[in-house]
Amino acid sequence: MRCPYCGCENTQVKDSRPTDENQSIRRRRSCEDCGGRFTTFERVQLREIIVIKRSGRRMPFDREKLSRSVEIALRKRPIQPERIERMVSGIVRQLESMGEQEMPSSVIGEFVMEALKGLDPVAYVRFASVYRDFREAADFQEVLGEIAQRAATGPDTSTTAANPRPAEAPDRKH
Ligand SMILES: [Zn+2]
Repeated sequence: MRCPYCGCENTQVKDSRPTDENQSIRRRRSCEDCGGRFTTFERVQLREIIVIKRSGRRMPFDREKLSRSVEIALRKRPIQPERIERMVSGIVRQLESMGEQEMPSSVIGEFVMEALKGLDPVAYVRFASVYRDFREAADFQEVLGEIAQRAATGPDTSTTAANPRPAEAPDRKH
């Protein structure tokens, strides 16, 4: 497994254990070159899902990409990596159980919204406010790019799901 920090292939598994109710194996790895540490998850993939982007382009569904996107929405939120992993697993299971080989990226966006709603109200609002603006036009990945940008530049919104407000209130401090 290539090191995500320095790109070398000299990485070692330090620890390996079942997680997510035995549905995956979590491995702690470290890089012999740069000392970087990272985690990988191994799990069953039942079928390949193809995502249809807004442009009409088709791409294989990428679980890692989804996982990173969700982490962006949950930035600075006190959520354990295992819970995020379970949430992503739940989304993937839902996608797989639809039985469709291909699906529009907007379907995945809807699942992410639903899952975030249950996991973390702040992240949900963060995601939903951007997603609603973009719903008609944009691709899921663009939405997440926008979220990353707002999370980096805007205030870390402390709004709750009961009072959802778009993130464009730069004067608000929590
Ligand atoms: Zn490295």
